[in-house]
Amino acid sequence: MSGNLDGRVALVTGSGRGIGRAIAEKLASEGALIVVNDLDADIAGETVDAISALGSKAVACVGDVTTPDFGKQFVETAVKEFGGVDIVINNAGYVWDAVIQKMTDEQFEAMLAVHTIAPFRILRAAADFIRPAAKAELEKGVVNHRKVVNISSISGLYGNAGQMGYSAGKSALVGMTRTLAKEWGRYNVNVNCVAFGFIRTRMTQELGAGEAIAKIGNREIGMGIHPDMIKAMEQMIPMGRGGTPEEAAGAVYLMCIPESNYISGQVLLAGGGLIM
Ligand code: NAP
Repeated sequence: MSGNLDGRVALVTGSGRGIGRAIAEKLASEGALIVVNDLDADIAGETVDAISALGSKAVACVGDVTTPDFGKQFVETAVKEFGGVDIVINNAGYVWDAVIQKMTDEQFEAMLAVHTIAPFRILRAAADFIRPAAKAELEKGVVNHRKVVNISSISGLYGNAGQMGYSAGKSALVGMTRTLAKEWGRYNVNVNCVAFGFIRTRMTQELGAGEAIAKIGNREIGMGIHPDMIKAMEQMIPMGRGGTPEEAAGAVYLMCIPESNYISGQVLLAGGGLIM
């Protein structure tokens, strides 16, 4: 394969479906080797097969990103199967919404667990490989940029009524992005955040049009948005529509290519022109 990301090893959480899958396929189509993750082995397998069909290679690391040792397992899979870690995309996530007076501790903590604590543990595990690898490269005078992209949301940047836990988790990810950009600049790791507005996926599908239930661990969480709410959101978007997973993946891809090697600690809002 010959692409912008030839031979780069990319780890993408939540890449069995939606935006994560589109990211995995986009990076693979540019030559990256992908470690796919999903809660469900069959769904993860579909992404692995799609990547093989694109002519690249992928392996699945199935599991819940919120389990304490997941980060270690994810990084070890990348090193064992593909020999390194070049790109880490913290994408896995879901919404479990309520207004503050109805939000339980369990709900709030679940949102922090998946959107803040899991990315933290994954990146801490990645440090075990990235720091010595970067030091060895620097000693040889080799400049090798690695990339971290944390997926946030417009809700994490500006808040959204009914999303106390989700917005808190996604906002914390922005702080982590800026801190890690400062800690890892010396290792030539670009750490950025891509925040989405409204992207059409399972998470944001119309209620009633086949409402999906996401099985997260032992919880079943209903996905979907009321059609009136979708209409209202699309009216606020200057481009007049929600984005596709492929368009969302395009924004993440920009943060993974060599042309973005001098961009770090930034938040890119991919929202069809939506500015709050
Ligand atoms: P999606 O279609 O529901 O896909 C979410 C993916 O994350 C699925 O593959 C799911 O696995 C996985 N996942 C969820 N919890 C997980 C866990 N604990 N461990 C491992 N994998 C887990 O949703 P999406 O819209 O693509 O969302 C992707 C990211 O974009 C999320 O972080 C979301 O918050 C963010 N985002 C989305 C929008 C939007 O408008 N869609 C806007 C802003 C931000 P299963 O397939 O097994 O359920």
